[in-house]
Amino acid sequence: MISVEDALERILSYVDVLEPEEKPLLEALGQVLVEDVMSSFDIPPLDNTSMDGYAVRAEDTRGASPESPVDLRVVGEVAAGYVFEGEVTQGTAVRIMTGAPVPAGADAIVPFEETDEPFEKAPVRTRRLDAAAIVRVFKEAQPGANTRRAGEDVRREQTVLRRGTVLRPSEIGVLASVGKARVKVIRCPVVAVLSTGDELVEVGEPRPAGKIYDSNAYSVGALVRRYGGMPRLLGIAKDTVEALTAKIHGGLEADMLITSAGVSRGDYDVVKEVLAREGEIAFWTAAMKPGKPLAFGCFYRDGRRIPHIGLPGNPVSSMVSFELFGRPALLKMMGKTDWHRPMVRAIAQEQIVNRNDPRVFYARCFVRERDGRYYASLTGPQGSGMLTSMAYANGLTVIPPEVDVVEPGEEIDVLMLDWSQGEEWGSRRPAEEAAE
Ligand code: AMP
Ligand code: MG
Repeated sequence: MISVEDALERILSYVDVLEPEEKPLLEALGQVLVEDVMSSFDIPPLDNTSMDGYAVRAEDTRGASPESPVDLRVVGEVAAGYVFEGEVTQGTAVRIMTGAPVPAGADAIVPFEETDEPFEKAPVRTRRLDAAAIVRVFKEAQPGANTRRAGEDVRREQTVLRRGTVLRPSEIGVLASVGKARVKVIRCPVVAVLSTGDELVEVGEPRPAGKIYDSNAYSVGALVRRYGGMPRLLGIAKDTVEALTAKIHGGLEADMLITSAGVSRGDYDVVKEVLAREGEIAFWTAAMKPGKPLAFGCFYRDGRRIPHIGLPGNPVSSMVSFELFGRPALLKMMGKTDWHRPMVRAIAQEQIVNRNDPRVFYARCFVRERDGRYYASLTGPQGSGMLTSMAYANGLTVIPPEVDVVEPGEEIDVLMLDWSQGEEWGSRRPAEEAAE
């Protein structure tokens, strides 16, 4: 039996970063940039106004007040997206809308609120005014007032994003602002997901006596998708070496293979046998509860190495094992370097027992924040077959082997799987409510 940390380190040593691909900007959300990106122009490209108002020469407004306003002759108008061709000369102003470039000659914007705003609101783009329209200014403007400087966000030829950056919505926006329609990113891994067991039937099919639905393919497939991979469900393999071998061969086009079940002692142990025969085994058990039996190995196909994680069959064990081992492997393939999860210190709301067990106990719990402190309660019985305990949880306790009992009120570490903790979470335990 090896520690979770050692197991992860060994798994990651067999996992390589995938190659880049180029794709449309929006589709690259969550992927890792493989090129430095610079801007070929200033952002904003021109000095422009941050307010609707009048573009003026600040010195022309000197001494303006409600009692002694300054009158300026309005020579034109300009809206965002247009450039005013004329110039603001002494004693004149140009009516201007937010985002429009500041006309030549002007160095400040007087907002409408500081004028008598003599105009009707009209959808004007840009025009010169011939009539002797006058605007009355009630407040002195400082040079630069209400203007945004060209290049104040991004300078021409400045690198805006470095390679290795994970593209979140804000980075996607920055890339759009510099005009990048397509980006080079590490491609998304395709993950083949295979369930094993004679007892399994596919959801949507009738369920004969003695059979259960295959839920692992769906929970694990969904985890793959959540963390940015593309799951490819291979279906269900019977507990025979032949059936499993055939299915596994069908999955070796993928970048990673995940199987569930068939790795525990006393079982048919077919996964182990197929791995040993067709690939390479790395290790067998990790010191964790739930989830102790775990297979890891590699298959080789056309000079490529395809890592294989053999998850335990129990539905909770397979999800927890994927969270601890599959997720980092997936993120590493995607070029990410940080797979740590937020961990909180939480106050246990009930007794948690992990006596005489040399494994770390990842109990499913629900964490709620109150007055700046976190409180953790278990989501009911902790059997590794009870998938609803996972559905009602937003975190996993991390109880080390040397701790036999956690008493209510003691602090524990909790690995957060989700941050949601609103009212809707509190009412997610219909079974328990009915029992009370
Ligand atoms: P095994 O690792 O094959 O001994 O399976 C352990 C437990 O997990 C058994 O109770 C199986 O019925 C259950 N199990 C295995 N695979 C799945 C699956 N894909 N969906 C739901 N339960 C499963
Ligand atoms: Mg089985």
